Amino acid sequence: MIRSAFLILAVASFAPLQAMADPPTAHLPAAFETTIAPGDTLDSVLGHAGIPATIRAEAALALSGVYDLTDLRPGHRIKWTAASGDPASLTRLSLFVEDGVEIALTFDGPIAAQRLDPPVHVTDRGETLTLDGTLYDALTARNAPERFAVDLTALLAGQVDFRRDLKGGETFALVWQEDQLPDGSIAGEPRLSYARLELTDRVLELVATEAAGPVIVFEDGEAVQRSAAPILGARLSSVFGRRNHPVLGGVRMHTGIDYAAPVGTEVSATGAGRVIFAGSIRGYGITIDIDHGGGVVTRYAHLSEIAEDVRVGTRVKAGDEIGAVGATGLVSGPNLHYEVRVDGRPVDPKDQDALPEQEIATAADLDALATWRSETGFMPTTDGERG
Ligand SMILES: [Zn+2]
Repeated sequence: MIRSAFLILAVASFAPLQAMADPPTAHLPAAFETTIAPGDTLDSVLGHAGIPATIRAEAALALSGVYDLTDLRPGHRIKWTAASGDPASLTRLSLFVEDGVEIALTFDGPIAAQRLDPPVHVTDRGETLTLDGTLYDALTARNAPERFAVDLTALLAGQVDFRRDLKGGETFALVWQEDQLPDGSIAGEPRLSYARLELTDRVLELVATEAAGPVIVFEDGEAVQRSAAPILGARLSSVFGRRNHPVLGGVRMHTGIDYAAPVGTEVSATGAGRVIFAGSIRGYGITIDIDHGGGVVTRYAHLSEIAEDVRVGTRVKAGDEIGAVGATGLVSGPNLHYEVRVDGRPVDPKDQDALPEQEIATAADLDALATWRSETGFMPTTDGERG
């Protein structure tokens, strides 16, 4: 139905109207819909359809108040209605963009723009599985968000080395929340609520009491660490150790780990501490150093910017936004270089008790732990005892 309307109007609007013997007088479709194709802009699409430049400019101005038009992507849809079937007499123009969001313009009176978020149904999902191979393989086999493989590796850094400590056969439980749109698709990013990894000698659990916030890590039921991933949903692009340098060439020591992510992606403090450096360093570009006490310092490099309220002396908590991913310093593309130093010496963030402060679990943390344990059918018999 929509497609045929598009075809009819496309013929009418692309034909040179002046040359027609009989200008169309009736029944131009009053509704029009098209999908953004590669290379299209809002202006080019509207211009092609015969909407005058003044209206296009007004529309773009109004839209820019609620939506960044450079975020328009192939696959997004544009739909409008016109009072008389004439594209110049628009009554309503809508952009259907990511996550089911509609950006709507109305033309009765001064052009007004509004953002309409779809109703989302928040669902809890859970999986309990036996590891046989990598965490990534296990997640994709269950249609669980594969990004959790990287997120969990970062969140449990210092507690477990997924490559070395997993022998196969471990039980792994995961609970997360996602926002379902009316059409069944998922909006935005899934949020981890709980994870449990049953190793042969200990049980590690991770509880998140606030979405995208820090998590508290429990070992055999005791809180050991409150931490956050330095970045969420990013691909681990380079590990710690000797490697061929991507810019300088030759084998050099890589003193941290890299996460590839678009410029502007939020970077978070991985643990509580005090900012001891916020500025530029040759090679590292824009950099933040956080002192966590006990000789432990974390470094976040190649940033595009430092958060407004972050300067030397600022106290941060795990999960606080401190800056954004960039490509400053010696890099081949945008990425976050995350480094952990103990007494000034870079160590592998995945091997060390990187953030060694003992944590006290809050009542909310303990409530959440008990809830998820019962919901995932976990009944520890040696709770609190360490072999
Ligand atoms: Zn690096």
